[in-house]
Amino acid sequence: MVRYGELSTKGKNRRNFIDRLAFNVRKSLHQFPNLVVKAHRDRMHLQLHGEDSTAVMTSLKKVFGIQNFSPSIRIERDIEAVKEAALTMVKEQFFEGMTFKINTRRSDHEFIYDTNEINDLLGGYILKNVPGIKVKMKHPDLCLRVEVRVNGIFLSSQTINGAGGLPVGTAGKGMMMLSGGIDSPVAAYLAMKRGVEIEMVHFFSPPYTSEQALNKAKELTAKIAPYVGHIKFIEVPFTEIQETVKHDVPSGYLMTVQRRFMLRLAVLLAAKRNGLAIFNGESLGQVASQTLESMVAINDVTALPVLRPVVSLDKNEIIKIAQEIGTFDLSIKPFEDCCTIFAPPAPKTKPRLDKAQEYEARLDIDGLIERAMAGIKISEIKSGETFLNQQEDEFAELL
Ligand code: ATP
Ligand code: MG
Repeated sequence: MVRYGELSTKGKNRRNFIDRLAFNVRKSLHQFPNLVVKAHRDRMHLQLHGEDSTAVMTSLKKVFGIQNFSPSIRIERDIEAVKEAALTMVKEQFFEGMTFKINTRRSDHEFIYDTNEINDLLGGYILKNVPGIKVKMKHPDLCLRVEVRVNGIFLSSQTINGAGGLPVGTAGKGMMMLSGGIDSPVAAYLAMKRGVEIEMVHFFSPPYTSEQALNKAKELTAKIAPYVGHIKFIEVPFTEIQETVKHDVPSGYLMTVQRRFMLRLAVLLAAKRNGLAIFNGESLGQVASQTLESMVAINDVTALPVLRPVVSLDKNEIIKIAQEIGTFDLSIKPFEDCCTIFAPPAPKTKPRLDKAQEYEARLDIDGLIERAMAGIKISEIKSGETFLNQQEDEFAELL
């Protein structure tokens, strides 16, 4: 039994949210063919029909838009059968000195017993058959929930936290600038958590960056994919732009101008693919390119919102999330991405917009952008896919 998250506050859009959530749940549980998903206005029911509940719950925990859920069993509307099932459930979880209570709700008022009677009948039966157990109304160790519905009586005793957030796809699409670092995968996760469908945009610069750096970005995408099933990955060749910028732009402005190109390309991709915003992994003050002055000088190339989900998080806080979502160990593997290699020794922490524009005007901006766009490759990455070559991977760890 699945309880919705913030959906309840969404008024008219509620049905869309529920339908989208049901769609996402079916997609992420597609490997369980017998599972049946029923999305009601107030709850969603997943009927297992023999599928493994532990495996289903593991996948379910990653679906955004779910507040929490309870593994439940359905019993015929026969009080004797309910007594036996309740007793079994309590015995399974019993420990010395355990307290409990029964909490009954009826959505079917035709049932012969009312809620108080059911509480008494079940409570009495458990007290009689489980020596040592006590009733406690406030904060018992075990709260046995009983729901009387037309189609049966449902028992549950556990509530498991869901991923929270909003169903992915209810907030439109955004292009996520994904590097191989720690921050951008976390930003991607947080964007998805607010319901945004993301497509990854990754810039790479062969031969300055290795195949493994590209593979690392793909594998990071695969780590985040369980939250949505699969994610589009767009690789954009960036070598010509970086070489040109390095050659023609004063070193203090290398980084600013490179970033302006990256953003232009991401914006073009958004326009072609119905993206409404650009997301990146910038955190305020973390490095030279992440000052407000720098953001002004880079953001200038577009009017599209550039959203930075980790902008106000400390590095420690970002790392904590990276560990929770399982991207951290991969992010810290030492494959250089394109920015590290072309990083100037002393980038300006307070670049000026007029200077950036002036230096950039010397370049064939349109031609560079056009050629990069001509070289893009788009693939679809599924959860759990691996891309890093094991041997090179081990070798890199020795470095
Ligand atoms: P991250 O840990 O995400 O790499 P960072 O702290 O290393 O971030 P930068 O290298 O300055 O910061 O990058 C800032 C942001 O620019 C990244 O979070 C990412 O969104 C984007 N970015 C940087 N390099 C790339 C790349 N090669 N491809 C796509 N986006 C990139
Ligand atoms: Mg980086």
